[in-house]
Amino acid sequence: MSTKVQQPIQSLAVVGAGQMGIGIAYVAAANSKVPVNVIDNSDKSLEKGIGFVDKLLSKNVSKGKIQEAEAKEIKGRITPYKDLAEGVKNVDMVIEAVPEIPDLKTKIFAQLAEVTQPHTVLGTNTSSIGITKIAAAAKGAESRVIGAHFMNPVPVQKGVEIIQGLQTSPETLARTLEFTERMGKLTSTSQDSPGFLANRVLMPYINEAIIAVETGVGQKEDIDNIMKNGCAMPMGPLQLADFIGLDTCLAIMNVLYHDTSDSKYRPSILLAKMVDAGWLGVKTGKGFYDYEQPGAKL
Ligand code: NAD
Repeated sequence: MSTKVQQPIQSLAVVGAGQMGIGIAYVAAANSKVPVNVIDNSDKSLEKGIGFVDKLLSKNVSKGKIQEAEAKEIKGRITPYKDLAEGVKNVDMVIEAVPEIPDLKTKIFAQLAEVTQPHTVLGTNTSSIGITKIAAAAKGAESRVIGAHFMNPVPVQKGVEIIQGLQTSPETLARTLEFTERMGKLTSTSQDSPGFLANRVLMPYINEAIIAVETGVGQKEDIDNIMKNGCAMPMGPLQLADFIGLDTCLAIMNVLYHDTSDSKYRPSILLAKMVDAGWLGVKTGKGFYDYEQPGAKL
């Protein structure tokens, strides 16, 4: 799909150089070929983020996916910043990807409303905080705020959810869709509602699989096998939960449960116990399955 807009986005700033932020910066620099300012208040995170870009570029050069000259061009489009106001003042779009802490996000959006230009789109990569709530913090710039929920790992996963808060203008939506498509992504549009689209569908499915283990309906391998071999899922739900992180799964179920007050979203007791035990999945080496190296890829 290609959308036409009056004022296409020609420059980006990403706030937060963690795993999501740096991935977003990379695909914007590589695919949409726009200059990208990467802002992080931690030197260590900035250094790690730029190191990740270097590694990904060398890997793509050695695999023959891109030429050395193109790698240099992509790297040349990415500029690190420590100061938020400095990094966002001249860009057409900002995408915020700081940790999932409501007060931190609202503080950043209050500042973005003050220091960005009147045409700058203000995107957030939040997985679970209401876009309407984040927009309310951007006083005077509410209509420019939108959810742009990229999936992990950003350079690999094609799908992106674009979420409209109550205040989001049609122009903000159109410009965000057009730019996200230029980043090489496939967009799905959602209204602002707990879990948006992906997590609203995925997490209750994973939670139900965990309840099936908890209540003795089936063994973990049997549940994963029937979903893989009988229901066309590339990965079983328990293996997927380990990959996502059981703490993340629990946090999202809690948002769905509390924000809707609907008992159908009650988090599994076993899931909460495993999180209490520190069995978070791949990242800790133990979840529903054991992993030799914590953090290893499945
Ligand atoms: P992360 O912890 O890897 O990175 C966050 C970065 O933000 C860190 O580098 C940190 O130094 C920086 N930061 C913190 N406070 C800051 C500030 N005030 N100003 C500038 N930088 C600041 O987190 P992540 O996993 O990349 O997640 C970022 C966002 O993306 C969260 O909202 C998360 O819910 C969402 N998300 C995560 C995933 C995932 O699988 N990790 C998937 C989709 C969406």
